[in-house]
Amino acid sequence: MKDSSMRLVKEDGTRIDGRRLDELRPLSIEIGVLEKSDGSAYVQLGRTKVFAAVFGPKEVHPKHLALPDRAILNCRYHMTSFSVDERKPLGMTRREIELSKVIREALESVVFLEEFPRTSIDVFIEIIEADGGTRTAGLTAASLALAEAGIPMVDLVAAVAVGKIEGQIALDLSDLEDKYGEADMPIAMAPRLNSIVLLQLNGRLTREEFKKALELGKKGIMEIYQKQRDALRRKYSEEALMEV
Ligand code: UDP
Repeated sequence: MKDSSMRLVKEDGTRIDGRRLDELRPLSIEIGVLEKSDGSAYVQLGRTKVFAAVFGPKEVHPKHLALPDRAILNCRYHMTSFSVDERKPLGMTRREIELSKVIREALESVVFLEEFPRTSIDVFIEIIEADGGTRTAGLTAASLALAEAGIPMVDLVAAVAVGKIEGQIALDLSDLEDKYGEADMPIAMAPRLNSIVLLQLNGRLTREEFKKALELGKKGIMEIYQKQRDALRRKYSEEALMEV
């Protein structure tokens, strides 16, 4: 059960960090930030900071694990031990293993894996600082890293968490709002297709609240999608200028 003993919405309707209920945290996106990977991206959403790196498509080792008709997508979501208030144990926790799986499934639904049979594509998501919404920021970053690696995709994935705080539906929960709010619902979409590729819910929402949360989530996702596309455009127009 969620602890709702903390005030999260002020008298004037704004949140602890001054945001409106339908407002994202400040978002910045950079692509091509890591030299050694085939594709990479950095996403900062408020104080949540995430790197994603992609390697491949490359030969599968050992070879017998290769699939004859498509690539294998490996995905690792990992939090650095210094990313959270209480130092996280080294190695992968059950939570990280579960999140790696749901993130992989979300990415599998947009990547054309059948174009690269007998290969693997490795996606690494490293949470450098965690303040809520790390799986969604991780997905937003990972799809950009895949795009930079030149992996064909039907669409990018853009993601955000919505939730309920003091009885009200709110966009992009911070850690505090996640902890003391009543519900947390991460959503990821392939926005151009209007297709949901991940949806989880921790807590309870009525049918009406769920509808409202989904609508608000979609609005946030469209804002994030726009910023992803701006970041890609920036990156490739800079590269084109350098080639001239
Ligand atoms: N968190 C933490 N320690 C952990 C896992 C999570 O302090 O071992 C915090 C962190 O700030 C994270 C937040 O709790 O962003 C919410 O975690 P949740 O499992 O809901 O995933 P997220 O919202 O980050 O996708």
